[in-house]
Amino acid sequence: MIEVHEATKVYRRGRTEVRALGGVSLTVPRGQFLSVMGPSGSGKSTLLNLLGALDVPTSGSIRIDGQELSRMNDTALSTFRRERLGFIFQFFNLMPTLTAVENVMLPGLLAGRSSAPLQASAEALLETVGLRGRAHHRPDELSGGEMQRVAVARALLTQPALLLADEPTGNLDSRTGSEVLRLLREATRERQLTVVMVTHDPRAAAVGDRIVRLADGVIVGDEPVHEQAA
Ligand code: ATP
Ligand code: MG
Repeated sequence: MIEVHEATKVYRRGRTEVRALGGVSLTVPRGQFLSVMGPSGSGKSTLLNLLGALDVPTSGSIRIDGQELSRMNDTALSTFRRERLGFIFQFFNLMPTLTAVENVMLPGLLAGRSSAPLQASAEALLETVGLRGRAHHRPDELSGGEMQRVAVARALLTQPALLLADEPTGNLDSRTGSEVLRLLREATRERQLTVVMVTHDPRAAAVGDRIVRLADGVIVGDEPVHEQAA
């Protein structure tokens, strides 16, 4: 469960101050798929970065499963990021010199896990995302949708409790985007993962359980998504 209490974020650059978040409070129960929408500059990525402990709030608090991020030391934070969190980015962020299966294995290798069982898990995950035949392709030999599916598999490798995705379909055409979303939805539902996904696309947002809208750093809307008849 995520509990954000009155979080603000002010960026300072010399004399200019940007109030990116102006007091956001939000609870996301375990297993919920939350979509965050809002215009450019409304604070969506800032919020995601705070949830992922990539940045710290100027004031307010963020608890993940009862643990307040600001009270964790550097070691605890890096363990948190490595073991509990999965990230998916708009530009995939795959390592260009590594194959698909090596990219999926990477977070496990960085966590010091041994290679053989990791490779087996990575191959199984690639199969889950429909890329069994692409395991030994490098990113430049994959389509955009395939790259993002590799990124989904990579994010799931460490069996995180929380998945953060910033515009995961922003660089995909609408059909490929829908496929990636469906996959993300299924994989995370099966694993009871909490997902926070930033998106501009109303159709993408409708895949989740709930939509929170940000404008100028504050929440201006929070509504459940009603299941659509397929
Ligand atoms: P987009 O949809 O364009 O990605 P966003 O909702 O993700 O927008 P943020 O990236 O959270 O917006 O930015 C919120 C505000 O904070 C913007 O006005 C931005 O210019 C500012 N901002 C973001 N990061 C920094 C930074 N590192 N230093 C200074 N200002 C920043
Ligand atoms: Mg952004």
